[in-house]
Amino acid sequence: MKTRSFGASGVEVPIIGQGTWEMEGDRRNAVAALRRGIDLGMTHIDTAEMYGSGRVEKLIAEAIEGRRDEVFLVSKVLPTNASREGTVRACERSLRRLKTDRLDGYLLHWEGSYPLEDTVAAFEQLRAEGKIRSWGVSNFDERAMQRVVALAGAPSVACDQVCYHIRERAVEPDVIPFCREQGIAIVAYSPFGSGSFPSPGSPGGQALADIAAARGASPHAVALAFLCRDEAVFAIPKSARVDHVEENAVAGDLSLDHDEIARLDAVFPLGPKRRTLPMI
Ligand code: NAP
Repeated sequence: MKTRSFGASGVEVPIIGQGTWEMEGDRRNAVAALRRGIDLGMTHIDTAEMYGSGRVEKLIAEAIEGRRDEVFLVSKVLPTNASREGTVRACERSLRRLKTDRLDGYLLHWEGSYPLEDTVAAFEQLRAEGKIRSWGVSNFDERAMQRVVALAGAPSVACDQVCYHIRERAVEPDVIPFCREQGIAIVAYSPFGSGSFPSPGSPGGQALADIAAARGASPHAVALAFLCRDEAVFAIPKSARVDHVEENAVAGDLSLDHDEIARLDAVFPLGPKRRTLPMI
């Protein structure tokens, strides 16, 4: 499993992690899948207070029991809680549900109506108290990233977690280059389009299948490797199935060559420039 420095946090983090949205419906399999993922080096676990209204954080506590030090654990504060005081309280609730004393990353889930300055001040307080190791943002476009960097300084912002999959490449022209230059990690959420993966019969699906067959990997692993071709990018696929987790982990050691990238680029074109970032 390849690792990269996770933005200014300076921590080496595996390029393929594990998402946890909507895992609460299948608790037993979700815990088994997360544990298998940790075994395979997918130790970056992404969650949020929003997921299952806290039930997913509790499930993760079970999955990482006895293994907390192996895991790079990230949670997110809801914009409706992201006031100066509310952020601190929300983090403390997440820590209790996760049965841990610190988060490795804590993100603003998306920008809401509280001033960004207040959320950042709360993040810095949490960091000073040792309750979080680093903080970042999610669903921020380039302009919003410029604002947070101007406010806090690039070394303070660990990551921007954004919607990025092979059929949704809106972050490539602006957000990824900006973050790469600033030393901020990009975390690709919904890297399989939240389950709407290119079908095998489509031209794109065929290209993924051909490359996968040649590499002895799955089309899903090839799609993850395509996203992680940029040195700033990490991906957090969600799976509650051990066999899928095993397939996805293969992407951690898969580097696509120039021709493979060019073929995928041709069948999954960038598309027109978007005014706003997509959000799932
Ligand atoms: P995703 O990872 O794009 O796709 C998940 C779907 O793909 C599930 O249906 C899963 O089913 C399936 N899948 C996974 N591996 C597979 C494989 N090898 N073969 C076939 N199917 C496979 O969806 P996501 O949950 O939207 O995104 C991932 C994570 O990003 C989330 O869980 C969450 O942590 C984060 N996220 C963040 C935001 C944000 O606003 N910051 C928004 C959305 C998501 P099985 O479980 O059956 O394998």
